[in-house]
This record gives sequence, C-alpha cells and structure tokens, in this order.
Amino acid sequence: MAYKIEKDSCIGCSACVDACPMNCIKIGEDGKAEIDQDVCISCGTCAGVCPVGAPAEE
Ligand code: SF4
Ligand code: SF4
Repeated sequence: MAYKIEKDSCIGCSACVDACPMNCIKIGEDGKAEIDQDVCISCGTCAGVCPVGAPAEE
C-alpha cells in the first residue's frame, strides 16, 4: 500500500514535499505533487500536512 495524490485537489503548495520522511514526493511538470509509490512507506505524514486533503491511501 502507498499514498497517491488526488491531482484535482492539489494546489502545489509543496508542504508534503518538505514533510515526507522518505523524500519521495516531488512537484511535477503540471505543478502538482506526485509520489514515488515504490519508496512510499504509507506513514501518512503528507496527508497530515496537506491543506486540501489531496494525499490519499490507495
Ligand atoms: S505516506 Fe509518508 S512516505 Fe508516503 S509519500 Fe506520504 S509522507 Fe511520504
Ligand atoms: S501538501 Fe497537498 S496541496 Fe500541497 S503539494 Fe502536497 S498534495 Fe498538493
């Protein structure tokens, strides 16, 4: 299991990028966050800091 970003909700604020302990989130060319799901440990930190609830567990 890993987290993914609901792209329609993400506003590209980078809070999750800075908070992720695995450093596996980046802002993509579309200006929205994306998660490397092969590295994500499903800790939920990104969901905790996101102002719009965009990260969700798959
Ligand atoms: S769940 Fe944790 S490891 Fe996975 S992307 Fe979010 S902050 Fe990073
Ligand atoms: S914290 Fe939320 S809104 Fe900000 S870049 Fe991450 S997913 Fe997008």
